[in-house]
Amino acid sequence: MLKREKQKTTIQFHCRQKIKEINHKVALKILSHVFSVAQTKVESWVEQEHALKKIFKVATDSIYLQDIANTLKLYALQDTLLFPLLKKDRYRIKKQNLKIIVIYSNHNVSNVYFDYCCHPKRGDDIVGFKKGNDVFVHHKLCERAASLMEQDEPMVFVKWTREAPDRYKLIVSLDNKKGSLASFLAYLAKMQINLVTIELGKSETKGMRIILK
Ligand SMILES: [Zn+2]
Repeated sequence: MLKREKQKTTIQFHCRQKIKEINHKVALKILSHVFSVAQTKVESWVEQEHALKKIFKVATDSIYLQDIANTLKLYALQDTLLFPLLKKDRYRIKKQNLKIIVIYSNHNVSNVYFDYCCHPKRGDDIVGFKKGNDVFVHHKLCERAASLMEQDEPMVFVKWTREAPDRYKLIVSLDNKKGSLASFLAYLAKMQINLVTIELGKSETKGMRIILK
């Protein structure tokens, strides 16, 4: 038992390490897309700011992303001859709400899609790849996401929205028998499911329309 606990802790530790490594890469890719420059260039700017050790936070902390983008903007502006032609807010990171995903980017995003490979669930660690004006969301540990990163696909900051639409509508049909509703409700209580509303359906179908939370 004790050994198994220890193994579990070790696995969790390696998993956290792995996520942190991915976050480091994701952070540099996000910034490289913000400034439309090579990743090596962003890396050298970050190094000059002595922020290479904590840059991984950009992948999960939108406030830090905005802060560091604001700092690196000065490097980016010095770097381009087009400076007088650039719009002032070119590098301003905007919050963009797209249904259940929030994107922080200076580039406009129109749609968010979940790719077929990994189908992340709310709360999972996720990453976002930009294709045109669309963003494709993957699980952070998805193998396809790893290969997209290898291929240098542009990445953007993604996170789940705070308001969880964890409300489902469930339509059930119960036998018209004494106690069937009571035992169904007892079952829901046992599963720790909260009932928001309950609606009884038309009698000829014997169905019950129930909205669960
Ligand atoms: Zn995937």
